[in-house]
Amino acid sequence: MSLVLHVDGPRWRAHLRATAEVRPDLIPVIKGNGYGFGNARLARKAGWLGADTVAVGTYQEIADVRQRFDGDLAVLTPWRAFDADAVLTAIGPDPDRVVHTVGRLADLDALAARLPGARIVLERLTSMKRHGFTARGLREATRAATEAGLRIEGASLHLPMGPGNLAEAADLLTDIVAAGLARPSADGRPATVTVSHLRAEELRGLAEQYPEVRLRPRIGTDLWLGDRGALTARARVLDRHPVERGETFGYRRRRVPRTGTLLVVSGGTAHGIGLEAPTGAPDLRSRAVSVARGGLDAIGLARSPFTVAGAARYFAEPPHMQASMLYLPPGVAVPEVGEEIDVRVRFTATWFDRVEVS
Ligand SMILES: *Cc1c(COP(=O)(O)O)cnc(C)c1O
Repeated sequence: MSLVLHVDGPRWRAHLRATAEVRPDLIPVIKGNGYGFGNARLARKAGWLGADTVAVGTYQEIADVRQRFDGDLAVLTPWRAFDADAVLTAIGPDPDRVVHTVGRLADLDALAARLPGARIVLERLTSMKRHGFTARGLREATRAATEAGLRIEGASLHLPMGPGNLAEAADLLTDIVAAGLARPSADGRPATVTVSHLRAEELRGLAEQYPEVRLRPRIGTDLWLGDRGALTARARVLDRHPVERGETFGYRRRRVPRTGTLLVVSGGTAHGIGLEAPTGAPDLRSRAVSVARGGLDAIGLARSPFTVAGAARYFAEPPHMQASMLYLPPGVAVPEVGEEIDVRVRFTATWFDRVEVS
């Protein structure tokens, strides 16, 4: 019944190793659907890679990671007082492994009250405008956190993707240094600044400018999904029904547009399989052309991510919870029940039933 992620194990592991080699001090990011692999598997892999720290997205994700990975657990979502009870539960028995992100002055005292002496990084707001302090806020926060007895381990930057990143990171590092966050800790460890979305050579350049800080890349996508050729998503043919034009089918008693085959395949909305836009016919003329050619988009069907006999097929109706119905026109070789077919997915938005690593 399954939607399966097939992983070419040797190739995937070689990519992970190669990435860790060219990205020294890497902090693997483990969050959400575990980039398709699941957070538990990624936690074990991070240990295998020799990481000393991983970053999880939310406090709730600590549960899947803490028993499978021995090192520090940095939480990317900033700590908030309104979630304090849930956070205390989620952290589990080892609060000292957790490094909290703080991005608002008001949260510092509240955090210190709930978790005295907690380890923190202060986030500097970037052009992303998601979370974090302004330059001035960062200076105030450094003072306030020190007074509150929190252990400041450094700072973090969440940069947008693409060009212009490096200049922005350099600017923001100036603020981090000005806030006194580049000083080594009381026990002599260098301050850490973690960053996202900088390339290896960009980070190396920055590290030369700021030898006093330990600059660490936080990487998810380029690590886990960096070699797409190692990954194949496959669905199963669960059923097939020859149909005549005009027969009814589906949840809404639709009529089959043309004689052909309804193919029921594994993978539905619960897996993250969604409707894609119909491929074309935005205006009347091209719609007419499409009708003349017998295009299925012209009769309102949407293209699916499933491939049968070398072509992406149309949904007969919107995907169901765990299965999808495809329409195959006459002349297409109909796959057998049990056969696997390829499906194109967004790995960060797909929940596989199984991950098979060779
Ligand atoms: C998700 C996330 C990352 C990792 O992003 P990728 O694009 O998957 O490498 C890094 N930092 C923060 C704050 C994030 O939320």
